[in-house]
Amino acid sequence: MRILVVGQGIAGTVLAWTLRRRGADVRVSDADFPHRSSSIAAGIINPVTGKRYVKTWRYDDFSPFAKTTYQAMEAEWGVPLWHDQTILRLLETPQAANDWSARMADPDYAGLLGERPDAGPWSDLLVPGDAVGEIRGAARVDFGALMQAFRTETQSAGIFLSQKITPDDTTQAFRDYDCVVFCEGYRGSQNPFFPDLPWQLAKGEAMLLRLLHPQAALIREMIKKTLLLAPLGNGLFWAGASYNWAFEDNGPTGNEQGFLEERLVRFLRAPYEIVQRMGGVRPTVRDRRPFLGVSPTDSNVFIFNGLGTKGALLAPFWAAHLADHLLEGRALERAVDVRRVALGQ
Ligand SMILES: Cc1cc2nc3c(=O)[nH]c(=O)nc-3n(C[C@H](O)[C@H](O)[C@H](O)COP(=O)(O)OP(=O)(O)OC[C@H]3O[C@@H](n4cnc5c(N)ncnc54)[C@H](O)[C@@H]3O)c2cc1C
Repeated sequence: MRILVVGQGIAGTVLAWTLRRRGADVRVSDADFPHRSSSIAAGIINPVTGKRYVKTWRYDDFSPFAKTTYQAMEAEWGVPLWHDQTILRLLETPQAANDWSARMADPDYAGLLGERPDAGPWSDLLVPGDAVGEIRGAARVDFGALMQAFRTETQSAGIFLSQKITPDDTTQAFRDYDCVVFCEGYRGSQNPFFPDLPWQLAKGEAMLLRLLHPQAALIREMIKKTLLLAPLGNGLFWAGASYNWAFEDNGPTGNEQGFLEERLVRFLRAPYEIVQRMGGVRPTVRDRRPFLGVSPTDSNVFIFNGLGTKGALLAPFWAAHLADHLLEGRALERAVDVRRVALGQ
């Protein structure tokens, strides 16, 4: 089967890689539009999120699948992509610490949550006073290295097209392809083959920081309070993120960067310097489920999008699911089928 994958963010990369491994004849196009979400993201997989410490949707299904997929890519390219990394969760109030202990006792969370006497190498860098929980089973996927490795592979195989695919191109593409799959991230909200989808795009900003403290180079674990800090090596940290549903500018802005710094100094007392300020748009959906499946106007046009805030966890499982559908005609789960919208589900 000859397939054109449009977009080489994390969605298009994982889908095109999966289709190729399963024998499809794939081409990938990307116009390198600015502010793509996959270039801003830390690629974190966090099993337990929010103020109520709730387990992520189908984490137990998706996480092992994601790990196997990313590790297969690592083996193929010889590039480290998957980093098991515990998240330390700072618990500010006695109520938060109690809620945490209650969650730890829930059998559904067995093995995922723990408590620490202190924050280890982080301790000297933090404003003191918080209790420390730990989230096990968390990981960070290096999106930048992954997308670069696949770009290099597809370029050297002569199957990468550096071009924007328009609706006219799509119609013409059917001379050369059996189907076209759009993986356009937030730009998918303007795709005329998929009108009226319930997008709820969320712009996010983040920063790359250098922590100016001798202990910083020893830190291996992520930490979360009002922001999340993820060590990238050599004293460099990703710090984020903000959420903004009413935005005019896709890039970094004074307001949101100020908001990030204000939140940072609530728990970080070590000095830092900002290496880079970043902004991008998450392809988030009102019902928080991905969009997979066929266009209502053209039976050869498909979508793989709506990964929202969780591209790292969701991309491998749902790419394989869409590959089953495209290559073997298997039905899509209703929760992710893009037709759920038209059917009012
Ligand atoms: C601040 C921030 C922090 C985040 N942190 C995390 C995190 O820690 N963990 C996590 O899992 N997720 C995180 N996310 C969410 C994550 O980034 C997304 O879920 C994911 O990256 C979406 O990937 P995508 O491939 O669908 O879209 P994108 O990354 O936007 O990629 C779309 C690609 O399509 C190309 N394109 C679009 N239209 C066309 C066209 N017509 N022709 C050719 N090319 C086209 C673009 O150039 C782009 O390369 C974060 C997002 C933000 C903004």
